[in-house]
Amino acid sequence: MAAMRVGPLTLILGMTVLAAQQSVRQPEPGVSETLAVARAHRISDVHYTVALRIPSSREERVSGTETISFALTDANTPVILDFAPDKAGRLEGIRIGGNALTAEQVNGHIAIPATAIHTGVNQVELTFEAGDTPLNRSSDFLYTIFVPARAHEAFPCFDQPDLKARWTLSLDVPDDWQVLANGAESARSSAGGRTVVHFDETQPIPTYLFAFAAGKFFVETAERNGRTFRMFHRETDAAKVARNKDAIFDLHAAALEWLERYTGIPYPFGKFDFLLVPSFQFGGMEHPGAIFYNASGLLLDPSATQNELLGRASVISHETTHMWFGDLVTMRWFTDVWMKEVFANYMAAKIVNPSFPGINHELRFLLSYYPSAYDVDRTAGSNAIRQPLANLAEAGTLYGAIIYQKAPIVMRQLETLVGSEAFRDGLREYLRRYSYSNASWTDLISLLDSRTPEDLAEWSHAWVDEPGRPVISTELQVTNGKIARLAFVQRDPISARGLTWTERMQVAIGREGSVTSVPVELNGGHAEVPAAVGMAAPEFVLPNGGGIAYGEFHLDPHSRDWLLHHVPEIADALTRGAAWVTLWDAMLDGEAQPADLVSLALQALPREKDEQNVQRILGYSTQAYWKFLSPDARQRVGAPLERAFRAGLAAAPTASLKGAWFNALRDLASSADTLGWLTNVWSEREQVPGLVLSETDYIRLAEELAVREPADADRILNEQAARIKNPDRKAQFAFVRPAISADAATRDAWFASLANPANRRREPWVLEGLRYLHHPLRAASAVHYIAPSLDMLQEIQRTGDIFFPKRWMDATLGGHQSASAAAIVRGFLDRVPPAYPDRLRRIILSSADDLFRAASMTGDTRPSGRGN
Ligand SMILES: [Zn+2]
Repeated sequence: MAAMRVGPLTLILGMTVLAAQQSVRQPEPGVSETLAVARAHRISDVHYTVALRIPSSREERVSGTETISFALTDANTPVILDFAPDKAGRLEGIRIGGNALTAEQVNGHIAIPATAIHTGVNQVELTFEAGDTPLNRSSDFLYTIFVPARAHEAFPCFDQPDLKARWTLSLDVPDDWQVLANGAESARSSAGGRTVVHFDETQPIPTYLFAFAAGKFFVETAERNGRTFRMFHRETDAAKVARNKDAIFDLHAAALEWLERYTGIPYPFGKFDFLLVPSFQFGGMEHPGAIFYNASGLLLDPSATQNELLGRASVISHETTHMWFGDLVTMRWFTDVWMKEVFANYMAAKIVNPSFPGINHELRFLLSYYPSAYDVDRTAGSNAIRQPLANLAEAGTLYGAIIYQKAPIVMRQLETLVGSEAFRDGLREYLRRYSYSNASWTDLISLLDSRTPEDLAEWSHAWVDEPGRPVISTELQVTNGKIARLAFVQRDPISARGLTWTERMQVAIGREGSVTSVPVELNGGHAEVPAAVGMAAPEFVLPNGGGIAYGEFHLDPHSRDWLLHHVPEIADALTRGAAWVTLWDAMLDGEAQPADLVSLALQALPREKDEQNVQRILGYSTQAYWKFLSPDARQRVGAPLERAFRAGLAAAPTASLKGAWFNALRDLASSADTLGWLTNVWSEREQVPGLVLSETDYIRLAEELAVREPADADRILNEQAARIKNPDRKAQFAFVRPAISADAATRDAWFASLANPANRRREPWVLEGLRYLHHPLRAASAVHYIAPSLDMLQEIQRTGDIFFPKRWMDATLGGHQSASAAAIVRGFLDRVPPAYPDRLRRIILSSADDLFRAASMTGDTRPSGRGN
């Protein structure tokens, strides 16, 4: 019983308890880990009964009553509820056991005094006006987004993921509104133009998954495998709904069936509804029984590209996977939020495969995860997959490409390391053991560790707890026309850290049109490849040729040179895709020129047969063109690129591929000839054979034309405004339009209006406007928006949803390549005080990475921002 001994350990424990008590008396704003741990320790068995009255006018407040019941093991200190509404909300009354109570409100919390509570079950009754911000109110609908800890901006609650609760909700709404929530509807009554809808009590779920929506929605119902699905939406184009709905229901049913089989656990949440939200701020949000999606990701146009078709299947599988990974078993704290995201993306990749038998799925895994992960992981702003988090107010900054794209790559390695059966069995045990409860990464790793001889803790440290990627160089010696030695050497880009990564690679060795794949295990500083010794001198050696290895690859000079001229000659599509990903990195590192990649693209595009590779090459060409070529160089390659894109559009065998070519041409277009043709297409004087354009296509086309034809901009935008039929798209267009205006004062006024948080609430609209404001053609006149946008970032993080800070910076910097723009960002980072949040500094560094590199390419003498 060493705990009795008085020593340093007791002292530390004493201080922790003291700190915890202080934090309970005077809790800081947001939800701190200290507060959450203290609460989870003494509070359990939470039930919320919430009744909300939602007025038809968004100017009127949403009012509510609530009963929170919970069991308490320790009643010596006040119980802290979280409630931090915007100015629309306030606490009106609080009662315990029928008696009114005065409770102190501090820093967005309500302290229920110890005198009013007791051990055992307590019941607190509250009346309040709800805060508006997380209710996303429009004139005739609203929907909640409570992730990561925004429920308490609407109503009082324990806003942390490990106090799961059962919820009983009722909504009082205008008669002509539809409603959905986590639970199934149990009863309804109507009187005086209003309807009260009651919902069944939910399974235990955390606050961030509690959800409801109400408003003027259409409802489609379908049966699949004996289950009823309901789709709520606001799309007025009936043909568009009819064209898409069966695929949407089928994809949900297929995902559910796959997950039930893989996990061995039936769908855990009863009914299954989903809502398609116009301009939703995420791709989807996994509320059990009531998934919310971005409407445009599911209701596709006839011009949808293969990436969009695959993207729809993926987002449906992703959110459906969350019903088990995240919803049934939830992280204890948001430091492990990546766990639910990695499983959602990783399982989604497995689920989608059978629905798209014609797709090269290895290539898809490579192209959908590696480039996006590298875009962050190569930068000085990268972060580890697993990050500490002191307060949920900062949870938004955890989200990004590292958890969505790098983590699935790491998870595939883990599955390879453990073996797919042991991996699945470990996951099944994890899901069973922690059902309707919470678990952490360590809980899972210890379950898997017992199933493998590998040291998973050490593996996990390099891949999960640290940022960045290994720098891997090829050492190739050829003597007398044969390979004398082949080796791969790794080093840590942060030399002082000295990390060594363990990974399995499939190295592609190419000779005379054929590719040999050689497995290589990289364990220490370098790995020799004896199997390659004696092979005929190769045309190229590509360490990630099998699409598996992750890192910053430096090819041997011969291979790099060969690939820069001959990628289209490689027969295997996956190897070609991997070569492109590696050459893009080489360009960013200065080992190849942007113009070299454009030349390679011009050579590859007419020959490339794989649709995924076509889209990737189109994307790289367009990025190289706008971000890394000088305006003079653009002049030189613009015409041949446009010609190649138009030829590709004409020759494309499928509508999805035509869509991809058309989008690329629209985004690149600058010649009078192409602009004239696009104008004819936009005004419907000409058709694109084999491609049906939708309202969203015409809107986008009008916007792109307006940026390029300032003299005609007003006419184009006026005519487009008159053509839009759907009310949500009309509102979005009206919002974005001033940002596209040819008049600088109008653009300035639009940007100035973003200082008001209310004008930033529709985040996708804001981002669309910012991208036009900073369009490369207008970069010089947009430089003056960069400094104020950087100044606003802290507030953006406080008021915006989880993805907004990074996207705000990406949209602000994405169109710039000048030394003056880079200098503004560096100046800002030099000037901010040491206390400036490290996470925001990293967001800026990662969003500015391309800009820094481009500025150094176009003559800036500053260092390019490489290395951590
Ligand atoms: Zn997710």
